[in-house]
Amino acid sequence: MADLVIRNAHVLDGSGGPGADGDVAIEGDRIVEVGDVGPVGATATEIDADGLVLSPGFVDVHTHDDGAMIRHPDLAFKVAQGCTSLVLGNCGFSAAPAEPGQPDTSGLLGGAPSWSDLEGYAAAVTAAGPAINAVALVGHNTIRQLVMGDPGSATYGPDKRREPTVAELGRMADHVSRAMEQGACGFSTGLIYEPGRYSRTPEVIELARRAADAGGLYASHIRNEGDRLLEAVDEAITIGSEAGLPVQLSHHKASGRRNWGKVVESLARVDEANAAGADITLDVYPYTAGSGPMAQYFDLADINTELAEVIRFASCPAFRAYEGRMAVDIAAEEGSTPAEVIHKVLTAPEGRRTICIQFIIDEGDIETNLRHPRMMVGSDGVVDLAGRPHPRLFGTFPRILAHYVRDRGVLTLEEAVRRMTSLPARRFGLADRGEVRAGAFADLVLFDAAAVVDTATYDDPKQEPTGIDAVIVNGAVAYRSGTHTGAAAGRMLRYEPS
Ligand SMILES: [Zn+2]
Repeated sequence: MADLVIRNAHVLDGSGGPGADGDVAIEGDRIVEVGDVGPVGATATEIDADGLVLSPGFVDVHTHDDGAMIRHPDLAFKVAQGCTSLVLGNCGFSAAPAEPGQPDTSGLLGGAPSWSDLEGYAAAVTAAGPAINAVALVGHNTIRQLVMGDPGSATYGPDKRREPTVAELGRMADHVSRAMEQGACGFSTGLIYEPGRYSRTPEVIELARRAADAGGLYASHIRNEGDRLLEAVDEAITIGSEAGLPVQLSHHKASGRRNWGKVVESLARVDEANAAGADITLDVYPYTAGSGPMAQYFDLADINTELAEVIRFASCPAFRAYEGRMAVDIAAEEGSTPAEVIHKVLTAPEGRRTICIQFIIDEGDIETNLRHPRMMVGSDGVVDLAGRPHPRLFGTFPRILAHYVRDRGVLTLEEAVRRMTSLPARRFGLADRGEVRAGAFADLVLFDAAAVVDTATYDDPKQEPTGIDAVIVNGAVAYRSGTHTGAAAGRMLRYEPS
């Protein structure tokens, strides 16, 4: 007997094909019928969709929600966008493995971990009762720091750039294998960040091999997204082919004005590699600014003045008044330079916890990216709700539907839904998800394609979108007509390669 029936919907099944008007019946956590659903028992909940679009729930393939799964288990900022599953552990930073009780220097978790491995983390997430599903990557930066120490600490030794010893590399590799055994979908790197930036390609290949052994993938924030973008894409392609596994290029972009347009060449390299037998996919966020920990982008001894010009403060514990303001404006007011402002912030107590927003991306490149058939969507939101976070944390998926589908016609609605549902579900091993069909898990979003819109802006970023009518996770209604129901039906998922 059905528990929930959604009637009179325009159903997009996630395949990219044309939709069909009809009903969807759900029993427990699965879809049991799609089409013309007859009368059901009086105990079933019925939702009249009144012609709205019903599609699989969106899969956010690039998140840093590892800590939020526990600190903010309602994940309201994701549920309200229609997301039902997340990929954690991106850019080389993952919640596991960890040293229980040790301070979290990455800022990812917002507190000391109580677990040592993915199984322990998954148990902590389950205990927190998340509203949404997640699968995890295991991160290179996390593993490297756990095994080799923190290159930022006084005890690390003089050579930050040292390579791991054979024994250290072996221990790092064993962490990858263990995470894969415990359900990770793959291995991630963030090769611009400390300590991953000190690694050389063979180290990454060696570790990626362990993910390959378990059928996983390699997801990378590549070594350079600006002047040396193409070389960095080549490195990722080499890692995939040498280690023998699929590659996900994270938040694909050409950063810095002089590099704008280069994504065309970069995508051509991806197409060429795929034509030659590689398996490369990508993701993008639909905004012209990036965001992340400011300390990672600036060398105090040699501040990048070009980057300093386009920096805005998202979260700044040292100077809360800077939040929401550009470094250039603060500098003008204080009679200094943007570089001096950044130096002042980073050397202040708690300065290293600053999250910044950097306007480095070309709008045209976003459209070029979104036209690519292997391009998925990942928010890359950084969950520090204290300041003014990048609006992508609240607006990414509705922004694709509103701006790039409806207003700009960059891709069709059916294709956008495919890229945000079945394509990522298959890629990240979310079995029986990302599709509307009998037998699949009931992860669904009901939205008004004519009205859905992101309302989060840089000035007022913590705004939930409008036009998302209902979100269903594992058969439970998590969100309805602007209200979070409190349903905690999300699960930590294990990677199940298709
Ligand atoms: Zn990244």
